[in-house]
Amino acid sequence: MKFKDLSVFFQKVESASKRLEMTAILAELFQQLDSEERQRINEIIYLSQGQLLPAFRNVEFGMSEKLIHKAIAEATGRSHDDIGKAFRSLGDYGEVTQQLSGSGAGKLEVTEVYERLSELSKFSGEGTVKKKVEFLAVLLREVSPLGAKYVVRIILGKLRLGVGDPTVLDALSLAYSKSKQLRPALERAYNLCSDLGLVADILFSKGIKAVEEFKVIVGCPIRVALAARLSSAEEIIDKIGVCAVEAKYDGFRCQVHKKGDEVQIFSRNLENTTSMFPEIESAARKQIKIKNAIFEGEALAYDPQTKECLAFQETVQRKRKYDIDIMQKRFPLKLFIFDLLFAGDDLTRISYEQRRKVLSGLLRKGDVLEISPVTIAHSAGELADVFEEAIAAGREGIVAKRLDSPYQAGGRNFNWIKLKRSYSGTLNDTIDCVIVGYFFGKGLRSSFGIGSLLACVYDQNEQRYKTIAKIGSGLSEEDLKQFKKKLDEMKIKSQPKEVDSLIQPDVWLTPKFVVEVQADEITRSPVHTCGKKAEGEPGFALRFPRTVSGIRIDKNSEDATTVDEISKIFSMQGRRT
Ligand code: AMP
Repeated sequence: MKFKDLSVFFQKVESASKRLEMTAILAELFQQLDSEERQRINEIIYLSQGQLLPAFRNVEFGMSEKLIHKAIAEATGRSHDDIGKAFRSLGDYGEVTQQLSGSGAGKLEVTEVYERLSELSKFSGEGTVKKKVEFLAVLLREVSPLGAKYVVRIILGKLRLGVGDPTVLDALSLAYSKSKQLRPALERAYNLCSDLGLVADILFSKGIKAVEEFKVIVGCPIRVALAARLSSAEEIIDKIGVCAVEAKYDGFRCQVHKKGDEVQIFSRNLENTTSMFPEIESAARKQIKIKNAIFEGEALAYDPQTKECLAFQETVQRKRKYDIDIMQKRFPLKLFIFDLLFAGDDLTRISYEQRRKVLSGLLRKGDVLEISPVTIAHSAGELADVFEEAIAAGREGIVAKRLDSPYQAGGRNFNWIKLKRSYSGTLNDTIDCVIVGYFFGKGLRSSFGIGSLLACVYDQNEQRYKTIAKIGSGLSEEDLKQFKKKLDEMKIKSQPKEVDSLIQPDVWLTPKFVVEVQADEITRSPVHTCGKKAEGEPGFALRFPRTVSGIRIDKNSEDATTVDEISKIFSMQGRRT
């Protein structure tokens, strides 16, 4: 298939407004591939999501808009002024390229474009910038104008066809079986490897049986299992009966993949965080007795002197790309392992109890990895006792786990149930936030046009809006659709002057709409500007924010909760460790 023809499909998907329509267009695309092309269907899948590989592989082009601007100038022979003017009117370098490209030959095959893009992402060393610009300029001349638009958008990470994972899964099922019946099997395999291209590849090269029998692969992150919540020990026992109870550690989740001496760590949202946590990486080599394993745990920072675990606010400072050595000394980590997903073989289908049994014999003694202790609770009273102990030890609460449950990749259900201290209310009141932007989101939510909202509170002193949360929970599908319509009325091209934000949403909105937000508590955060007094100092953030109201038409943006109020609530919460 020519890239030119793929671009036409992309255009159709882009202009489709409904997910069903998009699914049908993608299915048609997959069906059109001949048998040779189907062997490289993964490339088409990645490209259709604006990527070269699944997100956890961290492919980056490292080309800013400025460099793209230069490449367009070189490819089209147009002046920088012309390009600047076109950009100011179109607001998108993809469209600028399309408009200014002559009649590009468009002879390149999809695989050729894919390979060139891969090559571009790998340039390094001296003179890289110049080489990248020249290389891209040549590519832009060789694809069709429409193709050039999509090439530019892919490089800028702004393809935005709105093709979410569920759409691709449905389209694969449709293309292969003319119905959506294969979706559960495809989804299960996807949850186990987080790689849609790989799943498509297996489907078309080996068939649906191979997809059904798919097993986890060390090195491919498994989409994490999540916990449902209930609000009392009684409710939990009523729901799942005798269960295992573990402390709920308030740190960050690490899924560790060990393949011989090669260790990779993935975060809850599948980001590769290996380089951030060198002590976990080396402990996995030293402390894990078997050659190949995948395990999950919660990482907590501790005080090297007292050996006591620290609060989330401290632990979170380890999530950084720079000064890792310094932070490692100040805030060394312990990983409390709570599950084992692979030990020479896929363990996700066996019960929690069996997985735990294998886990109990897995570790050598050491400073970093520890197995999280478990108590079996036979009654609500016993469960409540463990909860109290956990709280007394400074933990966030407990997670109760069904003894016979498999590891449900990518699922939030009652196999795991969390019971947290904060439900009894460290932050009882809701916060009124102004929405200043939104993110398209990934997966299912992207099909509604909004994945999460960028929320601010009001700084009365500066008369500006300061960010305090990115909110992805609380809205139903219906709400999201309604919300999008309403919020889009406020859409603008760039960051409004009255908004102070270090975060760049996909869509900026003029501050107007207020929503009520519930959160577990207020924490310090380097990414938000609320309460941030100076460069390098943290601001405040809402922890686990979720909307609990629609748009409050009775409130103006200036009626939102203020930075001063947030600061007061924070100091009332006190410091906890
Ligand atoms: P939630 O993210 O609200 O669904 O709560 C589940 C999160 O709690 C997981 O993603 C883990 O990061 C964290 N967690 C802390 N301790 C445990 C534990 N013992 N078992 C499972 N998850 C835990």
